[in-house]
Formats: sequence, C-alpha cells, structure tokens
Amino acid sequence: MCEFCHKHGEGKKWYLQAKNYADDLLSDIKRRSFVEKFFKYPETIASDVEKAKQISTLPPAIGAALSKRITRNQKEMHFGQVIPLEDVRKIFEFVTSIVRLECICRKTTVGNNQRYCYAVSLLPNGGQMTEIIKSIDPSYLFGPENKDLEVLSKEDTLKLFEEYEKQGMCHTVWTFGTPFISGLCNCNAPDCHAMRMTLGNKIPTMFKAEYMAAIDKDACTGCKSCMKVCQFDALIFDNTARKMSINETNCYGCGICRSVCKKNAIKLKETNQTI
Ligand code: SF4
Ligand code: SF4
Repeated sequence: MCEFCHKHGEGKKWYLQAKNYADDLLSDIKRRSFVEKFFKYPETIASDVEKAKQISTLPPAIGAALSKRITRNQKEMHFGQVIPLEDVRKIFEFVTSIVRLECICRKTTVGNNQRYCYAVSLLPNGGQMTEIIKSIDPSYLFGPENKDLEVLSKEDTLKLFEEYEKQGMCHTVWTFGTPFISGLCNCNAPDCHAMRMTLGNKIPTMFKAEYMAAIDKDACTGCKSCMKVCQFDALIFDNTARKMSINETNCYGCGICRSVCKKNAIKLKETNQTI
C-alpha cells in the first residue's frame, strides 16, 4: 500500500474509497480555486514541465530541493497514480456519472479534441466539477456531436478504456486537491505532461500502481509483443533463455503488457510500495 492508502484509504486502496470522490470536498476554497486555474490555464502545466528541464543544470543540492518541492506540491494538489483496468472497473461500480472531457495535457502537446479524460462523480452529470469547468469555458465539456455534456455509460466507457489499453495507453487516477478524486485519464508518452515530468525530467508527479507485473516463464514464448507497448522500459529480454523478465524498479504496474500477451504469461501482483 502507498502512503495515500494509509492517509486516505485506511490501509485499503485510497482510490477505491467513495468518500474521496465526494462533492462536498469541493466546498474547500483552495481546492475550487485549483480546479478553476487548472482548466483556465492549461498552458501553465506545459510551461512548468519546460521550466523543470532546467533543474538538471543546477547544482545537485538545489536541483534536489526544487524537485522535492515540485513532487510535494503535486502530491498535495494534483496527484496521479497508475491503475490497472480491474480497478477502473471497481471505481465504475460506485460512481454515478462519467463525463468525457478534452485532455488538458494533449491540448498543449498534440492539440485539441483529444478526449481521453473522464470526470467521475458520485452525482449525476459529473457533479460540481463539471459545473466549475462549465463556468470557465463550456467548450471543454461539449461533445463533438451532441453539443452538450458528453455523459457516457459505464459500459461504453469501459469499452473505450479497453481500446485505449490495446493502443498502449495506461489508465491513471487524478486528484484535484488531494484526496479529492475527480478524473481518470489514459496516458501515453510524450503526450502526457506528468509522464514527461516523471520519466523525462526525473521529477515524480505521477506514481506507480499498487501492482507490479510478473512473468510466467513457462508460458512466455519470447514473442516480445509486451516489450513494444511498455512505456516505462520495464521489460528485459533474455537472449539466451528467449524469455521476458521484469525490471521491477521501472515497472509501473499498468498492466498494458498483460493485455497484449496472447500466452497469458503476464499477471499483476500487488506491491507494498512506499511513495
Ligand atoms: S507478450 Fe507474453 S509471450 Fe510474448 S514475450 Fe511478452 S510475456 Fe512472453
Ligand atoms: S512491464 Fe507491464 S505493467 Fe510494468 S510498466 Fe511495463 S507495461 Fe506496465
């Protein structure tokens, strides 16, 4: 279990606790103001990632202190964690509504109409979160065809998540003023600013899942399909044995490799990570 499970989940997976999705958390002014700024100024996130690139050029002690501060702030306000598809399903069991949104990261990397983000709420139509965003710029919420809130069913959303997984995107859950969770996204590098910050700048702003991949060496045929989809450089091919193995330091536990393994040779096991 991660530190957030201990702090916000009473020792269970914190993102599976319905209380962390409760709209009354949005009555907190700091949290509301963060949401408003986040959606109003998407370019700020992109420029923060660019600025953070300079940290590696600073004296190590200063760079380390700045990196720590960025990570601490991220944990406090916009904490992201990788989750596998089975936990997405569990979240969908208790939330009431799902609203598809434009991805803020991709808006500033690959352009508009990249609708990979999903607001989830215990209330209908995305709850107060979508009301706040609507008050800033309603175009974020309008679906391309229905010109209205793009509210999706759980079944349709799951089908899309399965499709994203086949395309190599990993599922993530995001806070807007921790522990309030209001969004799920489907991330890939280099479109995702959190991945660029975490993997490129080496400043953690997106964190590992509560899982890690494990390979059944007897079942693995060494086809390397899994290697092609792992975004975290966590698969190592043993040329002698002609088998795949996991670099446990790099593995984020997303399960994307599992979804492409035709031999069913990859499982996710639970970890006891400290983040
Ligand atoms: S996709 Fe499956 S069978 Fe192929 S190398 Fe990876 S673990 Fe082995
Ligand atoms: S090895 Fe598999 S579970 Fe681990 S990060 Fe890569 S794709 Fe995700």
